[in-house]
Amino acid sequence: MTVTPLSAVVLDNRFARELPEMAIARPAEPAPDPRLLVLDEALAAELGLDAAWLRSPEGLGLLVGTTVPAGATPVAQAYSGHQFGGFSPRLGDGRALLLGELVDADGHVRDLHLKGSGRTPFARGGDGLAAVGPMLREYIVSNAMHALGIPTTRSLAVVATGRTVYRETALPGAVLARVAASHLRVGSFQYARVTGDADLLRRLADHAIARHHPQAAPADQPYLALLEAVIAAQASLIARWMLVGFVHGVMNTDNMTISGETIDYGPCAFLEAFDPATVYSSIDHGGRYAYGNQPVVAEWNLARLAEAMLPLLHDDEDEAVALASRALGGFRPQYQAAWSAGMRAKLGLPDGADQAVVAPLVDELLALLQAGHVDHTSFFRTLADAGRGDPGPVRRLFADPAAIDEWVARWRPLEPDADAMDRVNPLYIPRNHLVEEALSAATDGDLAPLEELLRAVTEPYEERPGLERYAAAAPPDFGAYRTFCGT
Ligand code: AMP
Ligand code: MG
Repeated sequence: MTVTPLSAVVLDNRFARELPEMAIARPAEPAPDPRLLVLDEALAAELGLDAAWLRSPEGLGLLVGTTVPAGATPVAQAYSGHQFGGFSPRLGDGRALLLGELVDADGHVRDLHLKGSGRTPFARGGDGLAAVGPMLREYIVSNAMHALGIPTTRSLAVVATGRTVYRETALPGAVLARVAASHLRVGSFQYARVTGDADLLRRLADHAIARHHPQAAPADQPYLALLEAVIAAQASLIARWMLVGFVHGVMNTDNMTISGETIDYGPCAFLEAFDPATVYSSIDHGGRYAYGNQPVVAEWNLARLAEAMLPLLHDDEDEAVALASRALGGFRPQYQAAWSAGMRAKLGLPDGADQAVVAPLVDELLALLQAGHVDHTSFFRTLADAGRGDPGPVRRLFADPAAIDEWVARWRPLEPDADAMDRVNPLYIPRNHLVEEALSAATDGDLAPLEELLRAVTEPYEERPGLERYAAAAPPDFGAYRTFCGT
């Protein structure tokens, strides 16, 4: 077996080179006793990284940032952000480092980034560290999202550092190695804009076009085309979240990417009982980032992006505002089209199905699910059984099955394709009680529940014997679920 030496890992420093005003070089803090908890071997292969080498002391050094190839420049990235609506001009990576960019097997440039690698100049009062539980949460949920076909940053590995992190209690520390198309955020543009440096804003936009939306480069107005491309990518992404019942939990502008990938899994969770008012984050008192608000919040965040980009859109501010407004007007119809097409697929109906028939059926269905507190994931999966002629499983989800009987009686004549439904409606999602179970076992040193949960959620559509409990809703005593971010 040949094992890659560190010198074979080629890390570019393109972000730091092209946007030095937004990059502060910083080494990672030492990890006294690094121990690999999880490694995504398939992702390592995509990146051209040898999994056996990543498990070696030198490889672990890369995964915690203490050993970097010659020429690499780990940097903390600067960005601003609207957090729960309030603007912070200087947030940046308080506990993260961009190690650099690598070129994957398909020729795409990907960021290799660490979270929990120590304090940076952006750390403010924070300790710069992360605990095993929250880093494994990101590993689990990002893996599930990827398996569901939803654009997301990826998790290459979680390494326990051997350092103790102090939160409400003493916890084992960890570093997450994250891979992303880039870490450019709406907040990155806000940062460049508030510096007042027009050249920086332009270089940032050029960098974003080159990395994510190259089709914008030859457009008549490349920066307007960039804005439109981000709006389109986010409209599609948020529709995907809504269709699968994902609640991000902290959709601040610094947690929304330019690439259209989901980023920053903090107080996130998947819906169980369908209810637009569902909130999981313990700090979201007003419900700003409730499940049902996500499309409106995304549109609000994109308006902040458009504002930041105004000087790029036109020399005349009124003209720039008019162009930005027109671009933002594209969000709702694109979101609606993506969501409606996705919902038709969830119901097993063809693209050409008559919207005049389908739309009211969908509205009534969502009202039934909400009134009955019906488990979102179980519903769509068992509905396929009803499509095959066995309404038993779906009826059992309703205290009063009469209403769903009447609905199914109107849906079945549309000739839904039950097998196609099973290919788009997951059986296994990272249910909150199972995530908690896996994280608390892992924190105590037992990785078996984590591995079993990963086995279920990384093949979400494929029913497999022995995984029944991964398809079932939380037991009633699990109670109102809350997650905590910034930990
Ligand atoms: P997040 O809620 O994870 O998106 O983080 C919001 C901001 O707080 C970012 O600037 C993070 O880098 C920073 N941050 C979160 N946790 C810590 C920590 N433990 N130490 C330093 N900075 C942190
Ligand atoms: Mg963040």
